[in-house]
Amino acid sequence: MVGHAVWRETGGGGMYTLFWLDTPTMTARAAPSPAPGSPSQALRAVASEGGSTGRIVASITTAIIERRLAPGTKLVEQQIADVFSVSRTVVRQALNQLSRDRLVTLEPARGAFVATPSVEEARQVFEVRRMVESAMARQLASVITTEQVAQLKAHLREERAAVARSDVPGRTHLLADFHVVLARMLGNEVLAELVADLLSRSQLIALMYQSSHSAEHSQAEHEDIVAALERRDARAAARLMEQHLASVERNLRLDPRAPDLAAILKPRGKG
Ligand SMILES: [Zn+2]
Repeated sequence: MVGHAVWRETGGGGMYTLFWLDTPTMTARAAPSPAPGSPSQALRAVASEGGSTGRIVASITTAIIERRLAPGTKLVEQQIADVFSVSRTVVRQALNQLSRDRLVTLEPARGAFVATPSVEEARQVFEVRRMVESAMARQLASVITTEQVAQLKAHLREERAAVARSDVPGRTHLLADFHVVLARMLGNEVLAELVADLLSRSQLIALMYQSSHSAEHSQAEHEDIVAALERRDARAAARLMEQHLASVERNLRLDPRAPDLAAILKPRGKG
C-alpha cells in the first residue's frame, strides 16, 4: 500500500494533527544530476512536482476512503507541505484537485477542509449509485469472463480475511474497492472514474451520517452479487446491487434534524 498522511484527533475538541503512516512506495528514482539550471533539470523538477501533487491527492483520498479523515477536518497547507516535503504551491494544486472531486471544500480566508456533504447531496450520491451500479452489474453479468470471476473471488477472500481480523482501514478500503473493481471490469474508463468518485464521496457520507451498516453485512451482500455474476444472472446481479446500495443508504442517519457536525465540533465559549 502507498504511504499516506493521516489526521488524528489530538487532545479532543476537534483538533487534528497530521501523521505519516507507512513508508511511501513511490520513492523518487535516483537520476544522474545534470548541470545546474539545465533545461532537463527544470523539466525534471516540474515532473517531480506534478508527481507530488498526485501523491498528496492519493494520500488524502485513501485516508477518506478508509474513513480515517473525518468530514470538516481542517487541512493545513504548511503541515501537508512539511509531511510531503513540497512547496505550498504543490499542496494548493492538490487541494484544488480534491475540491474539484468534491472531497475538499475551499473557503476564502479560512483554508481547506474535508468536505461535509449535505443530506441532499448524500441522497443524490446514493441515487446515482443505484442507477449506475445496478446497470453496471447487469451488463457485467453478460460479459464477465471466468478469469474475472476468479479475480472477484480473490477479492472476496481478502474482504473476508480483513473482516475476520477486524482490520478496520483494510476492510473499509476493500469493501469500497469492490465497487470500483466491478466498474473496471467493463473496461470503461469513464465509468470506473465515476464510480471511484462516488465511492470516495460515499465514505465521507458514511462518516458524516454514522453508518450502522456493518462490514459483515456488506461483505455478505458482496458474496451474493458475485454469486449472481458467476451464474451470469443479469437480473439477479442488478437487483442484488440495488438492494445492497439501498440497504447501505437506509443504515445512514439521514435525518435532516440531526445536529450538524460543524456545530458539534465548534469549540465551546467561542460563540
Ligand atoms: Zn458494497
